[in-house]
Amino acid sequence: GSWYAVKTAEGTLYECRIKGKFRIKDIKSTNPVAVGDVVDFDLEETTDAVTGIITHIHDRKNYIIRKSVNLSKQVHIIASNIDKLFLLVTINNPPTTTSFIDRFLVTAEAYGVEAVLLFNKVDTLQGDMLDEQLYLQYVYSNIGYKCMRVSAVNGKGIEELREEMKGCVSMFSGHSGVGKSTLINTLQPGLELKTKQISEQHSQGQHTTTFAEMFDLDFGAKIIDTPGIRGFGVVDMGKAELGDYFPEFFALKDQCKFNNCLHKEEPHCAVKDALENDQIAWSRYRSYLQMLEGDDDTYRTDLYGD
Ligand code: GDP
Ligand code: ZN
Repeated sequence: GSWYAVKTAEGTLYECRIKGKFRIKDIKSTNPVAVGDVVDFDLEETTDAVTGIITHIHDRKNYIIRKSVNLSKQVHIIASNIDKLFLLVTINNPPTTTSFIDRFLVTAEAYGVEAVLLFNKVDTLQGDMLDEQLYLQYVYSNIGYKCMRVSAVNGKGIEELREEMKGCVSMFSGHSGVGKSTLINTLQPGLELKTKQISEQHSQGQHTTTFAEMFDLDFGAKIIDTPGIRGFGVVDMGKAELGDYFPEFFALKDQCKFNNCLHKEEPHCAVKDALENDQIAWSRYRSYLQMLEGDDDTYRTDLYGD
Protein backbone atom coordinates (compact mmCIF):
# COMPACT_ATOMS: atom_id res chain seq x y z
CA GLY A 1 0.00 0.00 0.00
CA SER A 2 1.19 3.51 0.69
CA TRP A 3 2.64 2.81 4.13
CA TYR A 4 6.19 1.69 4.68
CA ALA A 5 7.80 0.31 7.82
CA VAL A 6 11.02 2.25 8.39
CA LYS A 7 13.54 1.18 10.99
CA THR A 8 15.89 3.69 12.56
CA ALA A 9 19.52 2.95 13.29
CA GLU A 10 18.48 2.40 16.92
CA GLY A 11 15.99 -0.23 15.84
CA THR A 12 12.71 1.62 16.33
CA LEU A 13 10.05 1.00 13.71
CA TYR A 14 7.91 3.81 12.34
CA GLU A 15 5.03 3.57 9.94
CA CYS A 16 5.84 6.11 7.27
CA ARG A 17 4.16 7.34 4.14
CA ILE A 18 5.17 9.41 1.20
CA LYS A 19 3.74 12.78 0.48
CA GLY A 20 3.65 14.10 -3.02
CA LYS A 21 5.49 12.61 -5.92
CA PHE A 22 9.03 11.40 -5.92
CA ARG A 23 10.98 11.67 -9.07
CA ILE A 24 13.49 8.92 -9.38
CA LYS A 25 16.50 9.22 -11.58
CA ASP A 26 17.04 6.75 -14.43
CA ILE A 27 14.04 4.48 -13.99
CA LYS A 28 10.30 4.72 -14.21
CA SER A 29 8.99 2.58 -11.41
CA THR A 30 5.53 1.82 -10.12
CA ASN A 31 6.75 1.90 -6.53
CA PRO A 32 8.60 4.96 -5.26
CA VAL A 33 10.15 3.17 -2.29
CA ALA A 34 11.40 -0.40 -2.12
CA VAL A 35 12.60 -2.71 0.60
CA GLY A 36 16.26 -1.97 1.24
CA ASP A 37 15.95 1.77 0.63
CA VAL A 38 17.62 4.20 3.00
CA VAL A 39 15.34 7.15 3.64
CA ASP A 40 15.03 10.32 5.69
CA PHE A 41 11.70 11.06 7.32
CA ASP A 42 9.98 13.65 9.48
CA LEU A 43 7.92 12.64 12.46
CA GLU A 44 4.27 13.55 12.53
CA GLU A 45 2.49 13.42 15.83
CA THR A 46 -1.24 13.19 16.18
CA THR A 47 -3.16 12.55 19.38
CA ASP A 48 -3.16 8.80 18.91
CA ALA A 49 -0.09 7.97 16.83
CA VAL A 50 3.40 8.94 15.83
CA THR A 51 4.03 8.27 12.17
CA GLY A 52 6.52 9.51 9.62
CA ILE A 53 6.65 11.23 6.29
CA ILE A 54 9.43 10.18 3.97
CA THR A 55 11.23 13.24 2.65
CA HIS A 56 14.24 11.79 0.88
CA ILE A 57 15.38 8.50 -0.63
CA HIS A 58 19.14 8.07 -0.63
CA ASP A 59 20.86 6.98 -3.83
CA ARG A 60 20.66 3.22 -4.30
CA LYS A 61 23.93 1.34 -4.72
CA ASN A 62 21.98 -1.25 -6.72
CA TYR A 63 18.45 -2.53 -7.21
CA ILE A 64 16.71 -5.43 -8.82
CA ILE A 65 13.53 -5.03 -10.80
CA ARG A 66 10.79 -6.82 -12.60
CA LYS A 67 8.58 -5.54 -15.33
CA SER A 68 5.30 -4.11 -14.22
CA VAL A 69 2.48 -6.43 -15.25
CA ASN A 70 0.28 -3.82 -16.92
CA LEU A 71 2.42 -0.86 -17.72
CA SER A 72 4.95 -2.06 -20.21
CA LYS A 73 7.34 0.86 -19.92
CA GLN A 74 7.41 0.80 -16.15
CA VAL A 75 9.23 -1.45 -13.78
CA HIS A 76 8.69 -2.55 -10.22
CA ILE A 77 11.66 -2.29 -7.90
CA ILE A 78 11.82 -5.57 -6.02
CA ALA A 79 14.58 -4.59 -3.60
CA SER A 80 17.57 -2.28 -3.31
CA ASN A 81 20.97 -1.98 -1.65
CA ILE A 82 21.60 -5.72 -1.69
CA ASP A 83 25.05 -6.86 -0.58
CA LYS A 84 24.82 -10.52 -1.52
CA LEU A 85 22.61 -12.58 -3.75
CA PHE A 86 22.82 -16.22 -2.80
CA LEU A 87 21.86 -18.77 -5.42
CA LEU A 88 21.03 -22.16 -3.97
CA VAL A 89 22.26 -24.87 -6.30
CA THR A 90 21.40 -28.55 -6.05
CA ILE A 91 22.91 -31.17 -8.31
CA ASN A 92 20.03 -33.55 -8.86
CA ASN A 93 17.09 -32.90 -6.57
CA PRO A 94 16.04 -30.72 -8.30
CA PRO A 95 18.74 -30.35 -10.97
CA THR A 96 20.14 -26.84 -11.37
CA THR A 97 21.60 -26.47 -14.85
CA THR A 98 24.78 -24.57 -15.63
CA SER A 99 22.71 -22.60 -18.10
CA PHE A 100 20.48 -21.40 -15.27
CA ILE A 101 23.44 -20.65 -12.99
CA ASP A 102 25.10 -18.63 -15.75
CA ARG A 103 21.99 -16.61 -16.53
CA PHE A 104 21.67 -15.88 -12.83
CA LEU A 105 25.30 -14.73 -12.62
CA VAL A 106 24.99 -12.54 -15.72
CA THR A 107 21.93 -10.90 -14.19
CA ALA A 108 23.72 -10.32 -10.90
CA GLU A 109 26.71 -8.83 -12.76
CA ALA A 110 24.40 -6.54 -14.72
CA TYR A 111 22.71 -5.39 -11.53
CA GLY A 112 26.07 -4.86 -9.86
CA VAL A 113 25.28 -7.23 -7.01
CA GLU A 114 27.74 -9.76 -5.61
CA ALA A 115 26.58 -13.32 -6.21
CA VAL A 116 27.45 -16.32 -4.05
CA LEU A 117 26.78 -19.93 -5.04
CA LEU A 118 25.46 -22.08 -2.24
CA PHE A 119 25.65 -25.75 -3.04
CA ASN A 120 22.95 -27.21 -0.83
CA LYS A 121 22.08 -30.77 0.13
CA VAL A 122 25.73 -31.82 0.13
CA ASP A 123 24.75 -34.52 2.62
CA THR A 124 23.10 -36.39 -0.25
CA LEU A 125 26.10 -36.29 -2.60
CA GLN A 126 28.31 -39.22 -3.47
CA GLY A 127 29.97 -40.73 -6.53
CA ASP A 128 29.25 -38.94 -9.82
CA MET A 129 27.00 -36.38 -8.16
CA LEU A 130 29.72 -35.41 -5.72
CA ASP A 131 32.24 -35.18 -8.58
CA GLU A 132 29.89 -32.93 -10.50
CA GLN A 133 29.38 -30.65 -7.51
CA LEU A 134 33.12 -30.38 -6.89
CA TYR A 135 33.73 -29.69 -10.57
CA LEU A 136 31.17 -26.87 -10.62
CA GLN A 137 32.70 -25.43 -7.48
CA TYR A 138 36.10 -25.53 -9.19
CA VAL A 139 34.76 -23.80 -12.32
CA TYR A 140 32.98 -21.01 -10.49
CA SER A 141 35.53 -20.32 -7.77
CA ASN A 142 38.21 -20.12 -10.47
CA ILE A 143 36.42 -17.20 -12.10
CA GLY A 144 35.96 -15.38 -8.82
CA TYR A 145 32.60 -16.44 -7.45
CA LYS A 146 32.45 -17.40 -3.83
CA CYS A 147 31.18 -20.98 -3.51
CA MET A 148 30.00 -22.61 -0.32
CA ARG A 149 28.85 -26.13 0.48
CA VAL A 150 26.01 -26.45 2.92
CA SER A 151 23.47 -28.87 4.21
CA ALA A 152 20.35 -27.47 5.73
CA VAL A 153 19.71 -30.94 7.15
CA ASN A 154 22.95 -31.89 8.93
CA GLY A 155 24.18 -28.36 9.58
CA LYS A 156 27.34 -28.54 7.48
CA GLY A 157 28.61 -25.12 6.42
CA ILE A 158 25.88 -23.26 8.30
CA GLU A 159 28.25 -21.46 10.66
CA GLU A 160 30.41 -20.37 7.71
CA LEU A 161 27.29 -19.14 5.95
CA ARG A 162 26.30 -17.09 8.99
CA GLU A 163 29.79 -15.55 8.94
CA GLU A 164 29.41 -14.74 5.25
CA MET A 165 26.07 -13.02 5.89
CA LYS A 166 27.17 -11.03 8.92
CA GLY A 167 26.84 -7.28 8.45
CA CYS A 168 25.24 -7.74 5.03
CA VAL A 169 21.85 -7.53 3.37
CA SER A 170 21.23 -10.86 1.67
CA MET A 171 18.67 -12.37 -0.66
CA PHE A 172 18.21 -16.04 -1.47
CA SER A 173 17.18 -17.45 -4.80
CA GLY A 174 16.95 -20.81 -6.51
CA HIS A 175 14.53 -23.30 -7.99
CA SER A 176 11.60 -24.44 -5.93
CA GLY A 177 12.69 -27.42 -3.84
CA VAL A 178 16.39 -26.52 -3.50
CA GLY A 179 15.86 -25.94 0.21
CA LYS A 180 15.46 -22.18 0.70
CA SER A 181 12.85 -22.45 3.45
CA THR A 182 14.71 -25.24 5.24
CA LEU A 183 18.00 -23.35 5.04
CA ILE A 184 16.59 -20.11 6.39
CA ASN A 185 14.93 -21.98 9.19
CA THR A 186 18.27 -23.63 9.99
CA LEU A 187 20.05 -20.27 9.96
CA GLN A 188 17.58 -18.90 12.42
CA PRO A 189 15.03 -21.31 13.81
CA GLY A 190 11.63 -19.74 14.17
CA LEU A 191 12.02 -17.15 11.45
CA GLU A 192 9.16 -17.85 9.11
CA LEU A 193 9.50 -16.12 5.79
CA LYS A 194 6.29 -15.73 3.89
CA THR A 195 7.43 -17.03 0.52
CA LYS A 196 5.98 -20.46 1.08
CA GLN A 197 2.74 -19.51 2.80
CA ILE A 198 1.84 -17.11 0.03
CA SER A 199 2.30 -19.58 -2.78
CA GLU A 200 0.23 -22.14 -0.91
CA GLN A 201 -2.57 -19.66 -0.39
CA HIS A 202 -2.41 -18.71 -4.03
CA SER A 203 -2.98 -22.25 -5.11
CA GLN A 204 -6.20 -22.22 -3.12
CA GLY A 205 -7.29 -19.20 -5.07
CA GLN A 206 -7.30 -16.80 -2.14
CA HIS A 207 -6.33 -13.22 -2.60
CA THR A 208 -3.51 -12.08 -0.36
CA THR A 209 -1.70 -8.82 -0.18
CA THR A 210 2.00 -9.37 -0.45
CA PHE A 211 4.78 -7.08 0.51
CA ALA A 212 8.50 -7.38 0.57
CA GLU A 213 10.15 -7.24 3.94
CA MET A 214 13.60 -7.06 5.51
CA PHE A 215 14.36 -9.14 8.60
CA ASP A 216 17.09 -8.66 11.18
CA LEU A 217 18.64 -11.97 12.09
CA ASP A 218 20.09 -12.65 15.55
CA PHE A 219 23.65 -13.05 14.31
CA GLY A 220 23.85 -9.56 12.83
CA ALA A 221 22.64 -10.17 9.31
CA LYS A 222 19.72 -8.87 7.30
CA ILE A 223 17.67 -10.84 4.86
CA ILE A 224 15.16 -9.62 2.31
CA ASP A 225 12.04 -11.68 1.73
CA THR A 226 9.98 -10.98 -1.37
CA PRO A 227 6.88 -13.15 -1.10
CA GLY A 228 5.04 -13.83 -4.30
CA ILE A 229 7.99 -12.83 -6.46
CA ARG A 230 9.58 -15.89 -7.90
CA GLY A 231 13.12 -15.12 -8.80
CA PHE A 232 13.98 -11.80 -10.26
CA GLY A 233 15.51 -10.17 -13.16
CA VAL A 234 14.75 -8.28 -16.25
CA VAL A 235 17.75 -6.57 -17.72
CA ASP A 236 18.15 -5.62 -21.32
CA MET A 237 21.68 -5.54 -22.60
CA GLY A 238 23.25 -5.24 -25.99
CA LYS A 239 24.53 -8.57 -27.21
CA ALA A 240 27.92 -7.03 -27.86
CA GLU A 241 27.97 -6.25 -24.15
CA LEU A 242 27.01 -9.73 -22.97
CA GLY A 243 30.58 -11.02 -22.82
CA ASP A 244 31.41 -8.27 -20.35
CA TYR A 245 29.22 -10.03 -17.78
CA PHE A 246 31.28 -13.20 -18.02
CA PRO A 247 34.26 -12.12 -15.89
CA GLU A 248 36.68 -14.63 -17.42
CA PHE A 249 35.75 -13.47 -20.96
CA PHE A 250 35.95 -9.84 -19.96
CA ALA A 251 39.47 -10.35 -18.62
CA LEU A 252 40.62 -11.50 -22.07
CA LYS A 253 38.65 -9.07 -24.18
CA ASP A 254 41.58 -6.72 -24.79
CA GLN A 255 43.56 -9.55 -26.33
CA CYS A 256 40.95 -10.29 -29.01
CA LYS A 257 41.88 -8.89 -32.42
CA PHE A 258 38.60 -7.00 -32.77
CA ASN A 259 37.55 -4.77 -29.94
CA ASN A 260 33.89 -5.59 -30.61
CA CYS A 261 34.63 -9.32 -30.75
CA LEU A 262 31.59 -11.49 -30.00
CA HIS A 263 33.92 -14.46 -29.42
CA LYS A 264 32.06 -16.47 -32.04
CA GLU A 265 33.44 -16.64 -35.57
CA GLU A 266 36.05 -13.92 -35.32
CA PRO A 267 39.71 -14.74 -36.02
CA HIS A 268 42.32 -14.32 -33.28
CA CYS A 269 39.82 -14.47 -30.46
CA ALA A 270 41.48 -14.78 -27.05
CA VAL A 271 38.34 -16.24 -25.51
CA LYS A 272 38.20 -19.08 -28.02
CA ASP A 273 41.92 -19.70 -27.61
CA ALA A 274 41.43 -19.96 -23.86
CA LEU A 275 38.51 -22.32 -24.45
CA GLU A 276 40.65 -24.59 -26.61
CA ASN A 277 43.34 -24.56 -23.92
CA ASP A 278 40.82 -25.55 -21.22
CA GLN A 279 41.22 -22.23 -19.46
CA ILE A 280 37.55 -21.45 -19.94
CA ALA A 281 34.85 -24.01 -19.12
CA TRP A 282 32.87 -25.29 -22.10
CA SER A 283 29.65 -25.06 -20.11
CA ARG A 284 30.22 -21.35 -19.65
CA TYR A 285 30.85 -20.83 -23.34
CA ARG A 286 27.76 -22.90 -24.22
CA SER A 287 25.63 -20.74 -21.91
CA TYR A 288 27.06 -17.65 -23.55
CA LEU A 289 26.21 -18.90 -27.06
CA GLN A 290 22.68 -19.75 -25.93
CA MET A 291 22.23 -16.22 -24.67
CA LEU A 292 23.52 -14.82 -27.95
CA GLU A 293 20.97 -16.83 -29.96
CA GLY A 294 18.17 -15.04 -31.75
CA ASP A 295 18.18 -12.24 -34.25
CA ASP A 296 17.59 -9.11 -32.23
CA ASP A 297 20.64 -7.38 -30.92
CA THR A 298 19.65 -7.22 -27.29
CA TYR A 299 19.67 -9.97 -24.72
CA ARG A 300 16.95 -9.91 -22.11
CA THR A 301 17.53 -11.85 -18.94
CA ASP A 302 14.29 -13.37 -17.89
CA LEU A 303 15.09 -15.16 -14.77
CA TYR A 304 12.78 -17.02 -12.51
CA GLY A 305 13.55 -19.25 -9.60
CA ASP A 306 11.10 -21.85 -10.86
P1 GDP B 1 12.27 -24.48 -1.12
O1 GDP B 1 11.19 -24.74 -2.10
O2 GDP B 1 13.50 -23.96 -1.82
O3 GDP B 1 11.86 -23.59 0.00
O4 GDP B 1 12.70 -25.90 -0.53
P2 GDP B 1 12.35 -26.56 0.88
O5 GDP B 1 13.05 -25.88 2.00
O6 GDP B 1 10.87 -26.71 1.02
O7 GDP B 1 13.03 -28.00 0.71
C1 GDP B 1 12.61 -28.93 -0.26
C2 GDP B 1 12.95 -30.34 0.22
O8 GDP B 1 14.35 -30.51 0.29
C3 GDP B 1 12.41 -30.66 1.62
O9 GDP B 1 11.94 -31.98 1.62
C4 GDP B 1 13.63 -30.52 2.51
O10 GDP B 1 13.55 -31.31 3.65
C5 GDP B 1 14.74 -30.97 1.59
N1 GDP B 1 16.04 -30.36 1.95
C6 GDP B 1 16.30 -29.05 2.11
N2 GDP B 1 17.61 -28.87 2.40
C7 GDP B 1 18.17 -30.09 2.43
C8 GDP B 1 19.51 -30.56 2.67
O11 GDP B 1 20.47 -29.82 2.92
N3 GDP B 1 19.71 -31.91 2.58
C9 GDP B 1 18.69 -32.77 2.32
N4 GDP B 1 18.97 -34.08 2.27
N5 GDP B 1 17.44 -32.37 2.08
C10 GDP B 1 17.17 -31.05 2.13
ZN1 ZN C 1 36.96 -12.71 -28.80
